Amino acid sequence: MKTVLEQFLIREFPELYVGVYRPLTENLMSFGFECSDGWFALLYDLSRALTKLDEGVVATQVKEKYGTLRFYIEGGSDEVFELIDKAEGKSATICEICGELGKLRSLGTWLKTLCDEHYKAWVMGYLEPQRWG
Ligand SMILES: [Zn+2]
Repeated sequence: MKTVLEQFLIREFPELYVGVYRPLTENLMSFGFECSDGWFALLYDLSRALTKLDEGVVATQVKEKYGTLRFYIEGGSDEVFELIDKAEGKSATICEICGELGKLRSLGTWLKTLCDEHYKAWVMGYLEPQRWG
């Protein structure tokens, strides 16, 4: 994710993303948000909802895996995990590149959630999945 978007999330939700200041042996957030910009709004909404619950949840890793969002935390109630499950599920409907309506697609062994346009670009070789982590 672009640095400016990452910084925005970290500034808006400093307690949730306090892990960016912790060593990698404790927390993997200093790797950044390991997904593309299309999921920014999804992450913003999830971060806001988690912060509202005020349970002191701390994110330990945020990334794309097998084409959808993974949002790992320390602790958390059932309500917290429900919010996270919902957001991870929703990520399979949002293009990871542009944020438009997307679906989970495969190319060889790669999986990505993409809109029609970005799927076409991917198939034609204009998007290299390796670059997105
Ligand atoms: Zn797209």
